[in-house]
Amino acid sequence: MKQLVLTAFHKVETVEAPIPQPGPGEAVIQIRYAGICGSDLHVFAGLHPTAKPPLVMGHEACGTLYAINAPRTDLKVGDLVCCHTVKPCGACEYCSTGRENLCREVKIMGTNFDGVFTQYILVDANRVIPFRPGVDPKVAALVEPLTVGVHDLRRSGLRAGETVFISGAGPIGLIIGTMCRFAGASQVVLSELDPVRIQMAENFGFSVVNPTQEDFADACRELSGGDGFDKAFEIAAVQSSFDICVQQLRRGGTLIQVGMPPAGKVFGLDINKIIYSECCLLGVRHHTMSDMQTAAKLINSGVLNSQLERLVSAVYPLEQSMEALHRAETDKHMLRVLIDFSDAN
Ligand SMILES: [Zn+2]
Ligand SMILES: [Zn+2]
Repeated sequence: MKQLVLTAFHKVETVEAPIPQPGPGEAVIQIRYAGICGSDLHVFAGLHPTAKPPLVMGHEACGTLYAINAPRTDLKVGDLVCCHTVKPCGACEYCSTGRENLCREVKIMGTNFDGVFTQYILVDANRVIPFRPGVDPKVAALVEPLTVGVHDLRRSGLRAGETVFISGAGPIGLIIGTMCRFAGASQVVLSELDPVRIQMAENFGFSVVNPTQEDFADACRELSGGDGFDKAFEIAAVQSSFDICVQQLRRGGTLIQVGMPPAGKVFGLDINKIIYSECCLLGVRHHTMSDMQTAAKLINSGVLNSQLERLVSAVYPLEQSMEALHRAETDKHMLRVLIDFSDAN
């Protein structure tokens, strides 16, 4: 089988490796499509604090169950499946109280250990989640970013009828917006500077505001119903975007910090706004197995699949992986670039 190995920063090579065999409690997935995430590009460019070559990157994928060595009655060889990408210790207080994403020993696929940019991957059989027959594998490959949306929505505590402001209309902003609308938000407004991304967000049916436009404050006031938004999701991970999110919160509102500034970067905060308006500031980190099970159920039900399909901007064969990574890195209008691992020869 072929593996895409990061052999030096900014360089991947296709390497031959034996197909793994599952030991007790393990399974092997034959990868179909894998998506290139912003965090893969961080690793690729040497900007990740710990991930170093040689490494198989990637944590967004679906594939076919190739072999399993565990008593899972809900799975059979040949099923379209995904695998949860967070490996917690399973024994600590966080793991045993449903917050495995906060485990101190947690390891993340594609950064702390080899990921999905490979034709076959050995995984923990307990972390495999099946899709129903007939699901489009390109949509199934988006289960991990959808899982981010599930986790962040759950953390936000959004209730039906509430208004939502999202700063940053990239793939995660669009997914969170889609999830909020699905969960009954009465208004979802995306804030974005880039004209092409503004157009893409409008094509998703969102109201879009541009903070550099003169009428920005008026537009936000009108769209929020006058008093600010119940929830603000910060995705862009820059101070100006964070400040706008704080400003746009209504009294009693919640800011959910999704974007991750570079390590060591500290944001300033108008603490009086938080105090006087009794606002909440919430962090979100990775996600849990249960979040991914929810995301897979959503994909199986098909309710969001037409929106998810539009996130796939390009698909490259394995032989053109360098081009795929370069495109994802340089063209910010790519929402998701997928690599097709299924037909490599
Ligand atoms: Zn990702
Ligand atoms: Zn743990």
